[in-house]
Amino acid sequence: MATLTFEQARQCVLQKLCAAQIQPQVEIVGLSDAAGRVLAEPVAADRDYPTLARSVRDGFAVRAADLPGDLFVIGEVRAGESFAGEIQPGQALEIMTGAPLPRGADSVVMVEHCTVAGDRVTIPRTLAPGENVSPQASQARANEVLLEAGHRLGFAEIALLAMVGWKTVPVFARPRIAILATGDEIVEVNETPLDYQIRNSNVESLAVQVKRAGGCPNILPIARDLYQATRELTEHGLRFDMLLLSGGVSAGKYDIVERVLADLGAEFYFDRVLIMPGQPLVFGKARDKFFFGLPGNPASTMVTFEIFGRSAVELLGGQKEACLPLVWSKLAQDFRQKTGLTRFLPAVVSADGARVTPMAWQGSGDVPSLTRANAFLVTEPDRETWTAGDWIRVLLK
Ligand code: AMP
Ligand code: MG
Repeated sequence: MATLTFEQARQCVLQKLCAAQIQPQVEIVGLSDAAGRVLAEPVAADRDYPTLARSVRDGFAVRAADLPGDLFVIGEVRAGESFAGEIQPGQALEIMTGAPLPRGADSVVMVEHCTVAGDRVTIPRTLAPGENVSPQASQARANEVLLEAGHRLGFAEIALLAMVGWKTVPVFARPRIAILATGDEIVEVNETPLDYQIRNSNVESLAVQVKRAGGCPNILPIARDLYQATRELTEHGLRFDMLLLSGGVSAGKYDIVERVLADLGAEFYFDRVLIMPGQPLVFGKARDKFFFGLPGNPASTMVTFEIFGRSAVELLGGQKEACLPLVWSKLAQDFRQKTGLTRFLPAVVSADGARVTPMAWQGSGDVPSLTRANAFLVTEPDRETWTAGDWIRVLLK
């Protein structure tokens, strides 16, 4: 089976999901419930934006050719009004931000640049025609498509929908994602674990991450490391739009997830990625559903979902594109690593984003450290040393 680099594995996930040509169901939601959802139909402008040329400043509407000069003020126009008259040479109209530019005027001079005395305004500067004016249709023409289907709706998109008069919005149904923890040592959160047991935290972090990616998480009962139990729950999980398994994909004697999936006819696209944490990582398709077998150590589960599973959920949800922005920051201290793997290491990015400090941690089982990090440093696999001040990639948490 295949071992891939981080980039190859990401490419593989994106390519398999795009090739699947997912067409989710469409539902109609109210505008106020549409944030975070994925638009199912294109949105077009209902009219020109702006509908009329309008002022972007408080000031005086003028003819640029009259400046500099001393002009006669013939009245005012406020936002929400339209001035019936026309500006003649030597005239100005007091105008408020957002008000339509009167006929005859071609620009607006800011009130801060004028001296007003009675019905005269003195403007000592010149102005380029069009200055401080937003021309008709400069943002959008009537019927022009402003948002394509497959666009995730954030606050600016909600403003746009409101702007063009959409009170209800067609969005894609959220993909239903099954989450299945495996492991003989795992107990439920409300149980008191024995010394050699641990509570099931992975399904909780995964549920949060799935929701954040636009999916609807469904947590299944814990699968013990027994063939039949794991098989039954895996089959159940494959009835959802995608299955996330946690644990059971390493090389241990009781890591049976891959065998179960293989017996269910799975096609495996990769089962190892050259990353840390999370080297043993399975991605494939069974019963026509994608699945990820994520390694069980909490940091491995979180990181591998974030860098691969998240994009898969987004694409299953009808998003046209799924990106993973790695931003750049400057290392606050020297840093070294063994080459060979792309590492995702807990780190603290300073409040202004300018500096990033790697954190001491106890490895991929160390959940308390992860709560103190606000990001992961992302190393290049072929580089050994960095000096304080060097640029390095960062994945924000
Ligand atoms: P595995 O990938 O099954 O070998 O699991 C590796 C380690 O991850 C285990 O020894 C546990 O400490 C931890 N682990 C596995 N599953 C979970 C879970 N559902 N919640 C929290 N930790 C887990
Ligand atoms: Mg296990």
